[in-house]
Amino acid sequence: MPLSVYNWVIVQFWESIVRKILFASSEVHPLIKTGGLADVSASLPLALSQMQQDIRIIMPAYRATLQQLGECPLIATVKLEGYHQPVHILQAQLPDSDVAVLLVDSPEHFDRDGGPYCDTQGGDWADNAARFALFCRAVVAVATNQAGLDWQPDVVHCNDWQTGLIPALLSLERPRPATVFTIHNMAYQGLFSREVFEMLDLPEALWQIEGIEFYGMMSFMKGGLVYADHITSVSPTYAQEICHYEYGYGLEGLLALRSEQSRLSGIVNGIDTQEWNPQTDKFIGHHYSIKNLRPKSLNKKALQQHFFLPESAETLMFGMISRLVSQKGVDLTIDAIHRLLAEGKDIQLVCLGSGEAGFEQDLRVLRARFPDRVGIQFGYDEALAHKIEAGVDAFLMPSRFEPCGLNQMYSLRYGTLPVVRNTGGLADTVVDASEENRKQMLATGFKFTKPTVEDLYDTLLTVNELFSHPRLWRRMMLTAMVQDFSWINSAQAYLHLYQQLVDNS
Ligand code: ADP
Repeated sequence: MPLSVYNWVIVQFWESIVRKILFASSEVHPLIKTGGLADVSASLPLALSQMQQDIRIIMPAYRATLQQLGECPLIATVKLEGYHQPVHILQAQLPDSDVAVLLVDSPEHFDRDGGPYCDTQGGDWADNAARFALFCRAVVAVATNQAGLDWQPDVVHCNDWQTGLIPALLSLERPRPATVFTIHNMAYQGLFSREVFEMLDLPEALWQIEGIEFYGMMSFMKGGLVYADHITSVSPTYAQEICHYEYGYGLEGLLALRSEQSRLSGIVNGIDTQEWNPQTDKFIGHHYSIKNLRPKSLNKKALQQHFFLPESAETLMFGMISRLVSQKGVDLTIDAIHRLLAEGKDIQLVCLGSGEAGFEQDLRVLRARFPDRVGIQFGYDEALAHKIEAGVDAFLMPSRFEPCGLNQMYSLRYGTLPVVRNTGGLADTVVDASEENRKQMLATGFKFTKPTVEDLYDTLLTVNELFSHPRLWRRMMLTAMVQDFSWINSAQAYLHLYQQLVDNS
């Protein structure tokens, strides 16, 4: 049987079994977003819904989210353990889709200015533990049909520390749905003191080393890692990396054990191929495709104008769109680019990001030194992010660690060759421009191993050299642009997992 027909049969088989899935997340694009978690929390449910699954997203009713959605009908009121006020569950729809979104509405916790985790000054909300414990309790109420929605999920899919108490609390319920906990980033664990644990009035049974206690602290993340029926991470390489000291943040032993028990696996994220499509992208001035690459250079010109840089098609233009934090290797980028510019290389860098003040300052210094070579914009700007992906020649992602990463996949789709560190999802999605790979027409980007300025600098020299051979560069662009990162493969993998868990429960 030809493979495509075989695949088709598999898809039909999985889709023929409809599962009820409750997808819990603290951010969902476009309702609220700080990073890749929001993108995944919209795209994956959408893909599963298109595969005929009965999926509902559940998230907090932040002020910014309600402002965007307008009036949302009240569908349930629940009284939760430890809270004097009843909590409302509102119903909405994910914009431009028919995916249902349940909003946990507790004004005391979520109706405020600022971000989902931080106040307007960028500091963590002092009551984050209470906010997300309440969210988790509300999800448990819905998942066990205590909210009276007359809809009980087969699977609850939790994401990152904000949802970690859901598998923990559900482990105390009978009957209960199967639980999946996805790690998008181990670096944020939701650690709070024993006093906070007591204040939250959580079941004492959870306070144990084989529970949510972590060196005398309460760890939301551990709730997911210990109690979920299955843990996934957002790429196979990251799923292995977190079982080791350098990436595990003290939880590597637990993760290694769960991996040995076949309870940890990696499923690489997909991307929204409608939103990120150079043929139809509503944010870019000139659409292009593998059949007609020329307009890409017009996007480059427009970008150079936007950043007041000299217009030059021959200049190698690098882009970076990132949270400005150490994880993303921003310091490596600044130092390596500085070195290349000081040597008089014909390159430009445009950077869009926000984050730590020190990195912002270092970027300002770089721009001040090379004003006709460096463009920066601080803040969050969705439209400019698209313009950068379409306009630059190469994209910088020298992350110290990267659970999956989305921008390298957007870059590939836009024929913008990614320069990445060989870690996590970057390792799984980019094929290095080694001579061997280029000969076999497999190469899609540039990889380096050690997180040092020296290694990045050497790689950028290689990039620069290859850029001076337009035919070779163009061939790599074409290979990059035909890679398939649509959600269908990843969604199928999740569906398969849900199926196994339900069958074994
Ligand atoms: P992370 O989730 O660790 O921040 P990812 O690469 O997984 O990194 O996802 C980041 C997402 O946020 C991408 O969609 C990226 O384009 C977007 N992004 C990050 N910073 C900005 C910014 N300043 N303006 C616009 N989009 C941004």
